Amino acid sequence: MARDPRYDVLFEPMQLGPVTARNRFFQVPHCNGMGHREPTAHAVMRGVKAEGGWAVVCTEEVEIHPSSDIGGYIEGRLWDDADIAAHERLVEQVHAYHSLAGIELVHNGMAHENSYGRIPPLGPSNLPVATREPMQARAMSRRDIDDLRRRHRQAVQRSLRAGYDLVYVYAAHGLTTLQHFLSRRYNLRDDEYGGTLENRARLLREVLEDTLEECEGRAAVACRVVVDELLGAEGIERPEIEQLFELVGELPDVWDVMVGFWPDDSRTSRFTHEAWTEEHFRGIKQLTSKPVVGIGWLTSPDTMVRLIRDDVIDLIGAARPSIADPFLPLKIEEGRPEDIRECIGCNICVTGDWTSTPIRCTQNPSMGEEWRRGWHPERFRPAGSDAKVLVVGAGPAGLEATMALGKRGYDVTLAEATRELGGRVLREARLPGLAAWIRVVDYRRGQLAKLPNVQLGLESEVTADEVRGYGFDHIAIATGARWRADGVGRWHTRPAVLDPAVETLTPDDLMDGRRPAGERILLFDDDHYYHGGVLAELLATEGKRVTLVTPAPRVSEWSVNTMEDERIHRRLVEVGVELATAQALTAVEGGVARVVDVYTERERELPLDGLVLVTARLPTDALALELGATAIGDAYAPGTIATAVWDGRRYAEELDGEPHGDAVPFRREVVELAPLGSEVPA
Ligand code: ADP
Ligand code: SF4
Repeated sequence: MARDPRYDVLFEPMQLGPVTARNRFFQVPHCNGMGHREPTAHAVMRGVKAEGGWAVVCTEEVEIHPSSDIGGYIEGRLWDDADIAAHERLVEQVHAYHSLAGIELVHNGMAHENSYGRIPPLGPSNLPVATREPMQARAMSRRDIDDLRRRHRQAVQRSLRAGYDLVYVYAAHGLTTLQHFLSRRYNLRDDEYGGTLENRARLLREVLEDTLEECEGRAAVACRVVVDELLGAEGIERPEIEQLFELVGELPDVWDVMVGFWPDDSRTSRFTHEAWTEEHFRGIKQLTSKPVVGIGWLTSPDTMVRLIRDDVIDLIGAARPSIADPFLPLKIEEGRPEDIRECIGCNICVTGDWTSTPIRCTQNPSMGEEWRRGWHPERFRPAGSDAKVLVVGAGPAGLEATMALGKRGYDVTLAEATRELGGRVLREARLPGLAAWIRVVDYRRGQLAKLPNVQLGLESEVTADEVRGYGFDHIAIATGARWRADGVGRWHTRPAVLDPAVETLTPDDLMDGRRPAGERILLFDDDHYYHGGVLAELLATEGKRVTLVTPAPRVSEWSVNTMEDERIHRRLVEVGVELATAQALTAVEGGVARVVDVYTERERELPLDGLVLVTARLPTDALALELGATAIGDAYAPGTIATAVWDGRRYAEELDGEPHGDAVPFRREVVELAPLGSEVPA
């Protein structure tokens, strides 16, 4: 089908200095937990984005020298010539689909403590590093500044040798020395690099000029800059940015603008909306004649068109929307925007970076598996037989398995007990802030409707005897899991002592619409991801007096990995939830809750009218056990929605395949051993 003419503007090419972007889709740099450790997996992942139509495909931040490493996080490296081959591989993958490859060079300075190379970090001033490591950055001397400029220049030269078409000068996210020099908050110098904005911008200007000189005619130079640090008068604000553009606005070939720090930039859908950056970006384009790219959780083609038509940005910046759907541009171009797998804004992708593991995505289970397992976001291996498959349960695991099996060409029947598709997603998307999560169901419902070989059976609660009678060749049981009501979780591995006189509810009860009758509610969160916080918020906004008790030192602790922890804490305090961190519920007896401090075990009593237990789940696997069938998703092992989707995909991918046996079930990149050497004194 031809594309809708109203999207034509998205496909107009754009000149970026010496190179041309074939359309307006610009995958801005993003971390992926693979980087220098898994260069081939990384390269192929980027190549898939180019295949999907992104005109510019960038790396994550790439360290220019070991004097500024990013600790244990797995980003890119271009320390010396030995790193070039990995980048060549990435560029090759991107060029194979006629896209431009961009590299984001970084000098992290005081953002990190250099825990890998152990070289004391540098910054504009003598200040502690931004992490909580017991380490300070040393105020850079003139010689240090010369070193930084020379090393950045060398990294630019290596980038060009690797074949990159676009090279970043990076002053954003609070992560780079160039931003630290620019910001009043960190730059306390009184030499020509400190004081006035002109002085604070000197290093950025010098590095920009060095980079332009190296790239001259061969590659575009992008400058990524924070347009508001969101620190008020403490940090970089708009008037200073306007001054900055007067000084260097015409230097780079393209500006990449962002707002705040990384947790602001990649805020989750729970705390933001599409195009939230628009108010910050308005007017930036008018400060320069150079093109401007900007992000803003942009997933809808209509919003993209509006932002370009309204002169807010020239190029549609995207990290997460390109992760959830590497083929987003192509789907618009081919006139099938309804096929877009819209990002739900959950930040599971970000957790790969924080846990130094390959990137994963709730919506796109092939993310990070492109090379390792040979999964593609759009293409599927043909069916290995004409087997008929029954999938029981239409939650994320069952939906994904059915869709992927259907796309492989199998004859699939999906039986679902209720009258709606979606399972846990349907229920969780009704909780405060999680509405966008319903896209997990919407996308799959739309795809299933296009597959004539898939039959849907709603209101079809099946039993083992029925299933046996149907004569399917394969059965996948995706019947989910139920929250426990006995307190078992991390703190209690055996049922807790609970008072039957105190009303006790689980997340399932609350999602089913039940509410505690009493006013004072104790919510015990021993799960540590979003459920505890979201349900506390729900009850508090409905007028209950909620105390959230958790053994973790902060609420919804695992959400540090999705960069939501501070916003969750703020939201809960705002709606009046009392927070009791580092405390555990030991028992409810005689109408009172016993709560201990997890460090001292000092006990106190809390009066309560109702108890909500957010602890652990039990797989609903009776049907699987009775049939000896394969359980998938939460019915196999309860986890995140992302895990359930991924497991559904794995089932579909592996059907009729050779069993892995004891072999590693995916490809891995084994590094070559270096010569042993004899440097260690005997
Ligand atoms: P997952 O996260 O693993 O996909 P969910 O809990 O989201 O699991 O979904 C499980 C789905 O299975 C629910 O929609 C539930 O109604 C359905 N289900 C459970 N038992 C049966 C059954 N015996 N027959 C059909 N559907 C079932
Ligand atoms: Fe979007 Fe979530 Fe996928 Fe990240 S993990 S790209 S936020 S759907």
